[in-house]
Amino acid sequence: MAQQETDEQIGELNDGFVVDTEDCEERELAHRERGTSRPITVVGNPVLHRECKDVTEFGDELAQLIDDMFASQKTAEGVGLAANQIGVDQKVFVYDCMDDEGVRHVGHVINPVLQELPADRRVLDESNEGCLSVPTAYAELARPDYAEVHGQDSQGNPIKVRGTGYFARCLQHETDHLYGFLYIDKLSKRDRKDALRQMAEGTPRYPVVAND
Ligand SMILES: [Zn+2]
Repeated sequence: MAQQETDEQIGELNDGFVVDTEDCEERELAHRERGTSRPITVVGNPVLHRECKDVTEFGDELAQLIDDMFASQKTAEGVGLAANQIGVDQKVFVYDCMDDEGVRHVGHVINPVLQELPADRRVLDESNEGCLSVPTAYAELARPDYAEVHGQDSQGNPIKVRGTGYFARCLQHETDHLYGFLYIDKLSKRDRKDALRQMAEGTPRYPVVAND
């Protein structure tokens, strides 16, 4: 019964949510074929540890940035990428991520704002999380298993994106990036230290920007 009520509520919210589950293969390919892959910034690079600037120009430069981000995401085999992860100080993220029903979502969000969830929607899911900017490290982190992000598309139109399960985790993780936070900032001191040790011991399988 409770489940059904929840489903009805989601149905009512359908309006205004972007359709990001259709033509995923074609859209992702088109972006990355126009784009150039760039190396990934890693923890310690200042661009990752401060809030990015709001996007105010919705033109060709932004479209190119989105294409470059899809190309970079593919090279690094990521499921989401924030602009500061390729060194760009702008509030933009892209994603290519499966939700818990095995449905693939491909899209981008400009100037994302994570929506506060009502208490009854805050079901925490404890799962393994990793980040291209903390290469080769993983840690368990509890996050709500549902997320909604409001923002704009590349044309500046208002959009809303929502996700469940791993995709919900991705939406939260990428939005956090653009406000200067990495997932390891949410870990206990001990788990954070362990993640950084994993990173120090591993070798990234994609090009990264060396820190000074
Ligand atoms: Zn990340």
